[in-house]
Amino acid sequence: GVAGMTVTDSGASAALHRVFGYEAFRGEQQAVVDHVIAGGDAVVLMPTGGGKSLCYQIPALVRPGTGVVVSPLIALMQDQVDALRALGVRAGFMNSTQDFDERRTVEAEFLAGELDLLYLAPERLRLDSSLDLLSRGKISVFAIDEAHCVSQWGHDFRPDYLTLSVLGERWPDVPRIALTATATHATHREITERLGMPDARHFVASFDRPNIQYRIVPKADPRKQLLAFLREEHAGDAGIVYCLSRNSVDKTAEFLSRNGIEAVPYHAGLDAGTRAAHQARFLREEGLVVVATIAFGMGIDKPDVRFVAHLDLPKSVEGYYQETGRAGRDGLPSTAWMAYGLNDVIQQRKLIQSGEGDEAFRRRANQHLDAMLALCETVRCRRGQLLAYFGQEPDGEHCGNCDTCLVPPETWDGTVAAQKVLSTVVRLQRERGQKFGAVQIVDILLGRRSAKVIQFDHDQLSVFGIGGELSEAQWRGVVRQLLAQGLLAVEGDYGTLVLTEASGAVLRREREVPLRKEPEKPVSAKGAGSR
Ligand code: ADP
Ligand code: ZN
Repeated sequence: GVAGMTVTDSGASAALHRVFGYEAFRGEQQAVVDHVIAGGDAVVLMPTGGGKSLCYQIPALVRPGTGVVVSPLIALMQDQVDALRALGVRAGFMNSTQDFDERRTVEAEFLAGELDLLYLAPERLRLDSSLDLLSRGKISVFAIDEAHCVSQWGHDFRPDYLTLSVLGERWPDVPRIALTATATHATHREITERLGMPDARHFVASFDRPNIQYRIVPKADPRKQLLAFLREEHAGDAGIVYCLSRNSVDKTAEFLSRNGIEAVPYHAGLDAGTRAAHQARFLREEGLVVVATIAFGMGIDKPDVRFVAHLDLPKSVEGYYQETGRAGRDGLPSTAWMAYGLNDVIQQRKLIQSGEGDEAFRRRANQHLDAMLALCETVRCRRGQLLAYFGQEPDGEHCGNCDTCLVPPETWDGTVAAQKVLSTVVRLQRERGQKFGAVQIVDILLGRRSAKVIQFDHDQLSVFGIGGELSEAQWRGVVRQLLAQGLLAVEGDYGTLVLTEASGAVLRREREVPLRKEPEKPVSAKGAGSR
């Protein structure tokens, strides 16, 4: 710890004022810090921007020895250490980006007790040499950042995290603190089990981010919709746009730039120099838009990100929450905007089926997707649904700051429409060996003699042309909602639509199918009250 500071309660507050210049702890910080300084283990669940860093930095300063921080964010270590050094904290890091001399210097500082904080990549702790080094110095606390990376079911699993239970075994007397912004009960339990922290105290902060407005719109022409959203509500603002593929990242960045919005791409296919330059610009500039795959954003501390937009559906509610959570860390009004459509559902289901992993893994992945779809299709308050997912009781029925609260969606009786879709699927399923997806079904319902309809004589089916009452977009919406409700399923790599066990009840008229009316015009924050 810092010379001259003693291990007392006031040591924590003193470090907060003197070193960081903050007036008071926020939320659970004080409780966490006190517990860890006293030598207890802690599991800390706090949303992004909640202030997790201080929870281990203060104990590291107050307790004698060096605080060892395990973090997967190698790219950020240099910045984190520089920022701490600027505050007078003796910080260092060890990762694969350093040359031999740099590493030797840090090792020497650690052994001499001259470091308050030492940042390490998790893969370091696989090496006996690293563990031996740590044994020869004095450690005040172990912090395991982004602790959800230990979860094999999560979206950020890192095998190296599984080896971190060694810390508790080798250093039973050093307190450990695991921190994450991901917090379903399952992840929570997994962190405790896999890191071997049965006696840890759990600190769970509220997951509500009241300044973020949640909106999910039906996808039509996503880039144009995005452009309109940015022009109307976020001209000149910094923000992040997430796309699933590198190709669509590049195209979207180009499209925005061509239309007068400063935007740069970020994905793993770009060389490291370009990525670093784009990230640096994003952090430094006020109004830059980064279009990125999910590779971008973890650990990035930019307080004035005014919007996070998704052009493709995230794989899970956890992912959605983390990504949208990068907006509005300064507490000012921000928007989480997403365009979502039928192809998202089909594509994600296909990805799960053709991806790696065993049957259990697929089942979990499908469950994650189901929860995400439920959030997209809900007619209830999105914030309420989001908080409920994380096991938190919402404040009331309506938050007043999400699209479904601002403009309550209407439902309509989609039973007949559902029956028409399902009976078409039944007829197509009878053609053994042939696989048909949503396009063919909608063409048949609308009575379109497309090449593929003619080829398979589908204009001879009794269902041909029975769907004239709805538009193509509306039929696609019906199919999407049937998929989301589990009344249809996707099979194989081609997006073939098939019935589910639940479909029968609809076909037999034993079950009604309420569907969400898609808004004619997108909901805009303008003129709507916020809370
Ligand atoms: P997290 O790691 O949980 O995403 P950080 O630790 O990066 O969050 O903190 C988010 C921001 O809030 C940072 O800019 C940090 O300096 C600031 N912050 C954290 N705790 C306090 C506090 N007690 N008072 C004032 N600012 C704080
Ligand atoms: Zn709401």
